[in-house]
Amino acid sequence: MHGFRYLENVATLELDAPNCIGCGRCVEVCPHGVFTLNDAKARIVDRDVCMECGACARNCPVGVISVDAGVGCASGLIAEWLQEKNWRRSSGCC
Ligand code: SF4
Ligand code: SF4
Repeated sequence: MHGFRYLENVATLELDAPNCIGCGRCVEVCPHGVFTLNDAKARIVDRDVCMECGACARNCPVGVISVDAGVGCASGLIAEWLQEKNWRRSSGCC
């Protein structure tokens, strides 16, 4: 799934980095490589590849990650559907 992107600047992902204990679970569970560890602290590498699956927040032992799981997936699918619909209409396809 690396290389996959949703809409820019819409992901609800937040990280309270100062309170991260550096366990690395978020790095392990994220299917899109959103996190990296720097000096024993998690860091968000690219927020726009987050699909808001919620795995990082569920697995963080100290609860320093928050994300509205499912919102980005739905938004991405709807936006994609509308784009395709508009393209079909403007191209006279169907
Ligand atoms: S919500 Fe899912 S895709 Fe987004 S950062 Fe967390 S684990 Fe990665
Ligand atoms: S899972 Fe939580 S505590 Fe562990 S590295 Fe990620 S943000 Fe830090």
